[in-house]
Amino acid sequence: MPHFFVSSKDIKGNGVLIRGGEAKHIVTVLRKKKGDEIDIFDGCGNEFRVRILEIDRLGGFPRIKANIIAQKGGETEPKLKITLFQSIPKGNKLDFIIQKATEIGVSEIVPITTERTIVRLDYKKKKNKTIRWQKIAQEAAKQSRRNFIPQVGSVLDFPQALKEFSEGKPQMGIIAWEMEDKNYLREVLRSSVGCGISHFHLAIFIGPEGGFTPEEVEKARRVGVVPVSLGPRILRTETAGLVVAMVALYESSDLG
Ligand code: SAH
Repeated sequence: MPHFFVSSKDIKGNGVLIRGGEAKHIVTVLRKKKGDEIDIFDGCGNEFRVRILEIDRLGGFPRIKANIIAQKGGETEPKLKITLFQSIPKGNKLDFIIQKATEIGVSEIVPITTERTIVRLDYKKKKNKTIRWQKIAQEAAKQSRRNFIPQVGSVLDFPQALKEFSEGKPQMGIIAWEMEDKNYLREVLRSSVGCGISHFHLAIFIGPEGGFTPEEVEKARRVGVVPVSLGPRILRTETAGLVVAMVALYESSDLG
């Protein structure tokens, strides 16, 4: 059965008003009547089953008054999409980051290498690791009951990652930089993901143990990525990305 778009302005409490072309379709094409049930969505990620209470045919288009009888879904995906461009840390720490980022609700993880990245992976290692990381994401998604498995992208170097960002979908990118003294994470997030935009794609860049170089930050700035401070303490690379993802989802009202 099709589901019909109803602007969130026309949903008040349990009451729903369906107007315009959608109402016309429901009444004249589907021949729905008082007491029938239909599914609607509000474009902000909510889907409801409603029951028709009344069809008012005054004027050109019919208007349908309906009552919500159930919220559909079990939707586990955040409306805020996050791509985490994470510098590969030493050892197996990226395994942990991928597992936790998946639990928190990150949509995509792209392992990156930067000027100060210590770990160097040859082609074969990159390939094998990517398969392993994707498996970790898959298991973590299942465990945390996500319907969606975050994608672990192939390893990119920093310039490639910036290119991917500028050519890709994210509306905004932030790069965590401990030397930043103007932009703070909270303000930057509140002016973007926290201002009621229901669907937003954020990219987060996190440096390696040795941090980003000032040149890298400058290059990022040039393609529109905003450097942000995470406050006065230095977080380890495996902590920083998770913290930024968590607070971004919090600001977007996803964490309950
Ligand atoms: N080598 C640096 C710290 C690197 S921490 C130093 O000792 O000064 C690893 C990464 O975590 C950084 O590249 C940055 O992306 C992020 N990070 C950690 N703490 C941060 C903070 N207080 N503000 C912004 N970014 C931070």
